[in-house]
Amino acid sequence: MTSAHRLDGIPPTIFTTMSALAVQTGAVNLGQGFPDGDGPASLLAAADQALHGGANQYAPGPGVPVLRQAIARHQQRHYGVDLDPDTQVVVTTGCTEGIAASLLGLVNDGDEVVVLEPYYDSYTAMIQIAGGVRRPVTLRAPDFRPDVDELRAAVGPRTRFVLLNSPHNPTGTVLTRDELQAVADVAIEHDLVVITDEVYEHLTFDHEHVPISTLPGMFERTLTLSSAGKSYSVTGWKVGWATGPAHLVSALLAAKQWLTFTSGAPLQPAVAHALDHEPAWPRTLARDLQARRDLLCDGLAALGLDVRRPEGTYFALTDISALGWKDGMEFCLALPERAGVVAIPTQPFHDSDAGDQVVRWAFCKEASVIEEALRRLGSVDLRR
Ligand code: GLN
Repeated sequence: MTSAHRLDGIPPTIFTTMSALAVQTGAVNLGQGFPDGDGPASLLAAADQALHGGANQYAPGPGVPVLRQAIARHQQRHYGVDLDPDTQVVVTTGCTEGIAASLLGLVNDGDEVVVLEPYYDSYTAMIQIAGGVRRPVTLRAPDFRPDVDELRAAVGPRTRFVLLNSPHNPTGTVLTRDELQAVADVAIEHDLVVITDEVYEHLTFDHEHVPISTLPGMFERTLTLSSAGKSYSVTGWKVGWATGPAHLVSALLAAKQWLTFTSGAPLQPAVAHALDHEPAWPRTLARDLQARRDLLCDGLAALGLDVRRPEGTYFALTDISALGWKDGMEFCLALPERAGVVAIPTQPFHDSDAGDQVVRWAFCKEASVIEEALRRLGSVDLRR
């Protein structure tokens, strides 16, 4: 007799598959979202100093105090949130561990989690591994905005959580204050905890990022996750954090201690240095990214693709049906051979068919790389 395993039905992450395909075929990789520029020089120098200064043994479980204090100052500086760095801040190994540890620490078997579809792939995997059940609220083309009635309909008697993501990967939607208020109203009415992934908090384009924890009545029920990876272009460092009321932060820590135990020691003082001394760097990156967003979106539109210009993140979505394709996965698997470019199909981020013809392209690459990808795409027949 076979029994169900907690990983049953969870496919391998599409990002690894597509990056491997890019390496194998020599394609330009506009798939996995990692920048090809480095973080600020002072951040790299601070890491160097920590590595050579003996900061190489286990960090305290919740993170080194200087980083927890710098994270608290960051939340105060940007959002006016006051945090006790000892009880309301925990350092995680990237936001991905923050997602895993919060779900493992909080979700009971059968608890329902309302989550925006398309969902970043680790959300669905970790909800399932934690024993939870996902309840999607779908962001649909062409606007990719949440519908309040659909949100209300997704909440039932077993719903305990909302797993939110704004700025949203892969749609690039930045939830407005009104949309966040609608989520907050539902959360308060049904006594839900909100876990919110805000890793693209500083990468917005003429759109204000509002942390849902700052809305009235929300701090006590919100666990906010972020990281240095996106804000400071160090995705490989895997330094993230969770902030919120002590009871939620300690639930996350209770699970985190059995996952990574503690996060990488020498990178933590370096990130603290960047948060304190390079506070404007992420906004400068966002301004620079905005130009590359426009370069990519204008180029894809010129190729006959229906493009959604994102409000935040470093991803743009296109509908490929105008080129005669019905299946984004088929399109993305054919693209490296056909054009020498890798993009990400969004089917793996959906239960519904809303993503079947939607493909994601990353623009966190040098302008010359984006131009080369566009040149390659323009030199072949992209129709099915
Ligand atoms: N967050 C990045 C993306 O969406 C990559 C993360 C990953 O590879 N797991 O592309």
